[in-house]
Amino acid sequence: MHENNPPPKLVDSHVHLDDEAFAVDRDAVIERAGQAGVETMIVPAVDAGSWPRIKALCADHAGLHPAFGLHPMFLPHHLPAHVDALSACFDGGGAVAVGEIGLDFHMDGLDHELQRYYFLRQLELARERELPVIVHARGALEEVSLTLRRTGGLRGVVHSFSGSEQQARQLWEIGFHLGIGGPVTYPRAQRLRRIVAQMPIEFLLLESDAPDQPDAAHRGERNEPARVAEVLRCVAELRGESAADIAAATSANAHRLFGLVRRDN
Ligand SMILES: [Zn+2]
Repeated sequence: MHENNPPPKLVDSHVHLDDEAFAVDRDAVIERAGQAGVETMIVPAVDAGSWPRIKALCADHAGLHPAFGLHPMFLPHHLPAHVDALSACFDGGGAVAVGEIGLDFHMDGLDHELQRYYFLRQLELARERELPVIVHARGALEEVSLTLRRTGGLRGVVHSFSGSEQQARQLWEIGFHLGIGGPVTYPRAQRLRRIVAQMPIEFLLLESDAPDQPDAAHRGERNEPARVAEVLRCVAELRGESAADIAAATSANAHRLFGLVRRDN
């Protein structure tokens, strides 16, 4: 690639940019992301308290798109009334997905039945509103996959996918994407790397999950959306394809899934 060429345009399909980890230098983080080609980002919510700040953040920056939802790890914050309030978040337009929602059976102290209640109600909302879903599945991928299949009429992404080849296939067979981020850059992630090398490109989305899940070169550090460029390099290498091609394909996937309008550049 010529040195003066601009970096390929990338979408960070999952970044918690409202997190307080970015409180002191959020504008610099967004700036660095832009310099790395990451001009479009999806910012998923975690609880009802996060909705107003995500709304405000995304209103201030042209490339940021909000998703609203109730994250299973924040279960103690949720109330049934929040699901009704969630529906209203989608009235004004601008929100691109219901998320982050899902099941987390890995973390202790989160009632499974109550998680299922919120997950199902939000899936129903997404189906009614014909919105994609951004799904978190930790220690619960089998059940999440089954629930998505049974509910039907859904599309979306299972972010930070870490399952088996069979689980990956089950997801793209029902039209779900796999969100791939920092974990794929770890040489020990052999199963994930094999899936990413061979999976149909039309179901692959790039993500940072910042401030979490840094790539191998930044282990232990705060992650940021600019590092999606590192994930891109790794995915391109694993697949033996050019970074430009992977960038174009994954960005097109994100635009299609989230209904984003391409910006002129
Ligand atoms: Zn997340």
